[in-house]
Amino acid sequence: MTKQSFEDKILNMVKKGGEDGVVQSDLWNVLGIDSREGSRAVNKLVRSGLIKRVPTTSKGRRTYKLIYVSKKSESVKLLVKLNPAMSIPCFLCKDLEKCGLGSYFNPLICGRLTKFLQIND
Ligand code: SF4
Repeated sequence: MTKQSFEDKILNMVKKGGEDGVVQSDLWNVLGIDSREGSRAVNKLVRSGLIKRVPTTSKGRRTYKLIYVSKKSESVKLLVKLNPAMSIPCFLCKDLEKCGLGSYFNPLICGRLTKFLQIND
């Protein structure tokens, strides 16, 4: 199985999860992939803005819920861009105080910030 097919399968399962999303740790079991390989594929999808990762607890363990980012929410982000300061995702981020290196909310893997930087590069 190639990395690309991991990403395709993960994206399809996350899409099927709808608004409730899919618990990341459950994906590894369903797809039969190890967490390291799966996390790498998920990071690519998050960076590309196709899915978002939300911290959650499942079976008493901290993990992430993966939720598909629809094109509808992307168009809302474009409306925010009318004011340059307000278009910076961190400016209005509800997770700003919890964000930092080594945290669940991490600017190095933040899909919103990555997408903003790619668009404004
Ligand atoms: S890097 Fe991402 S999670 Fe962190 S504050 Fe900015 S937008 Fe929020």
